[in-house]
Amino acid sequence: MFNKNDILNKFQKLKTPFYYYDIDILKRNIESLIKYLDSENNKIHYAIKANSNNYLLKIIKEYGIGIDAVSSNEIKEAINTGFESKNIVFAGVGKSDDEITYAIKKNISYFNCESFQELEVINQLAKNLSKKINISIRINPNIKTETHKNIQTGFRDNKFGIDINDVNTIPSFIKKLKNINLVGIHFHLGSQITSNEPFIKLCKVVNDINNFLSENSINIKFINVGGGLSVNYNEPLNSFPNYKDFFNLYNSNINLKNNQKIHFELGRSIICQCGSLVSRILYTKQSFGRKYIILDSGMNNLIRPALYNSKHIILNLSSNSSDEELYDVVGPICESSDVFRENYSLPKSSRNDIIVICSTGAYGDSMSSNYNLRGNIKSYYSDTI
Ligand code: PLP
Repeated sequence: MFNKNDILNKFQKLKTPFYYYDIDILKRNIESLIKYLDSENNKIHYAIKANSNNYLLKIIKEYGIGIDAVSSNEIKEAINTGFESKNIVFAGVGKSDDEITYAIKKNISYFNCESFQELEVINQLAKNLSKKINISIRINPNIKTETHKNIQTGFRDNKFGIDINDVNTIPSFIKKLKNINLVGIHFHLGSQITSNEPFIKLCKVVNDINNFLSENSINIKFINVGGGLSVNYNEPLNSFPNYKDFFNLYNSNINLKNNQKIHFELGRSIICQCGSLVSRILYTKQSFGRKYIILDSGMNNLIRPALYNSKHIILNLSSNSSDEELYDVVGPICESSDVFRENYSLPKSSRNDIIVICSTGAYGDSMSSNYNLRGNIKSYYSDTI
């Protein structure tokens, strides 16, 4: 990822903790995505929830990628960054009336609707504004995925989308709603999905529903299969997601009808590997036989380990020791779950050493909180420091 001595000199001068983004990694990653995308038949909307940092959004925009938003503030942020409304889609199981009205007024590309009631509300709000707007229906396909249960979203126990068993009622239901156009179907199985099997199952579901809708004279334009492409957290250095297989899988298994396109909503795969959380060791200590490294960053900056039991590679950039020791790497927050790694092997570490937690570009800063009133932390970029 970086030349250790160069970067250490730079990091030493900065107040920790902070997020650091390697812009070269981001650009090379997106270039790899673009290379394997079938630009005729595919379109990408970046899931801005993964990281809404404005500096990074501007770079993503340069590649012609759109935005998948899940709140009106995310739409606002995208528009302020220069994304065109026609490249923004809006999902979310609980959109408020104000949010829907805002998005209608901004003429976004389409809404991903998650319930029959939401369809009626959107129809009514569009009518109030004398508009006819594009919607896509999010369907829960009841497909299980081998990911952490908190980031599985397309199984029957999950709150997202409409029950796949209710798809047969869509044509008659939609007919009553005069202020919406059904332009697509939407799915999102979950995030960090490491096997292709669920994606293959999804293609079968897509083909069945697409056929059913066209038999009922509904010709949709967009098949949105969400995100979910995994990254390799054990290989933060120069490992790019397998875009080639991912796009190929969908492009070869979905039977597109006239002028239909496949839309993807990738978040993690685009932004994860370029980000690192950089901290200093405040203290080291031993207690009941465990050795602790206590960092100045905590679960308020990166909640993934506490929330999803996620495991990030951690580096000690400043230690020159050749002796390795096992440490519990923890934060300063007053919660026992504020632990980044347990029994983790690092070179012998000391107070003030610089510690880097890798692969934290996605769902890191965007999920941070002000817990313990610790506030937000700064971000730095490889091309500006
Ligand atoms: N689309 C929707 C509806 C999501 O909820 C998410 C994230 O959970 C994504 C796309 C992005 O998924 P990922 O970060 O796995 O690419």
